[in-house]
Amino acid sequence: MNFELNDYHRNISEKELIDDVVLVAKLLKKNTLTMKEYNSHGRFYSSTYLRKFGSWKNTLIMCGLDISGHSFAVDCTTANVIEDILAIKEKLNAETITREQYDTYGKYSSSTLEHKFGSWNNVLKMSNLPLNVNRNITNENLFCEIERLWTVLGRQPTTTDIKKGTSVYSLNTYTRRFGGWRNTLNAFVNYINKSDDSDNSSAFLKNNDCSEFPMTTTEDTLDDKHKTSREVNLRLRFKVMQRDNFKCCICGASPATNPSIELHIDHIVPWSKGGETLLENLQTLCSNCNYGKSNL
Ligand SMILES: [Zn+2]
Repeated sequence: MNFELNDYHRNISEKELIDDVVLVAKLLKKNTLTMKEYNSHGRFYSSTYLRKFGSWKNTLIMCGLDISGHSFAVDCTTANVIEDILAIKEKLNAETITREQYDTYGKYSSSTLEHKFGSWNNVLKMSNLPLNVNRNITNENLFCEIERLWTVLGRQPTTTDIKKGTSVYSLNTYTRRFGGWRNTLNAFVNYINKSDDSDNSSAFLKNNDCSEFPMTTTEDTLDDKHKTSREVNLRLRFKVMQRDNFKCCICGASPATNPSIELHIDHIVPWSKGGETLLENLQTLCSNCNYGKSNL
């Protein structure tokens, strides 16, 4: 069976939507409802109502519920929202405010603000707060991405590259973690240089902490004939490319001058002939020369 996104919300009729709001109001024994109340008890998302009816106020009118006690959009001005957001930030002593935090402490609902300002990030931007950070991004994730960018670009990545959207993480994510782009690059260089003497050992290769870098299992790569693993880990790969100036050792092509060039790492003495995965037995080749070599 194919996995498919559940899209049943798309086909909900207006009547079903209205009936559910009326039902929740009845259950709560109220003649009106806030979006928060509806979100906690209703079947649908309040954002579905905003899309369908334009506002929560309209929704209440459609459902024949009382609107007199609500502040709604009249009160929901940019200035009021910013004031509210900053008050919560102060209260929580937080760097930035998530939607969940806002829904717990805010005057309005995060969906109202999202609807009004386009996105939660826009609300944060206008309040001058950093965008929500994914706390699960590790330093290793960031270093892996920098390594990828550096290799793809064939040169040191700049803030302009990151702002252009080349990176899967935002510039903010790097600079907030390491304090500025320069420091980010310094941290990356330290990371690459960290295990100088263990680069060639299989123990290090087995402990490669960069989960995004493809590694085959040790059963596949370690055998009696070799002292090293066939796979080139991130640090060694970067060092080889850096030594070769991110240029193909045969034809000199580089992604720095031709973005379509893809660089590979090649064993000079092939692995199958006993060549080891050591800096001195590795070279940078473009994909064309690499395939050309393996056809010989
Ligand atoms: Zn080449």
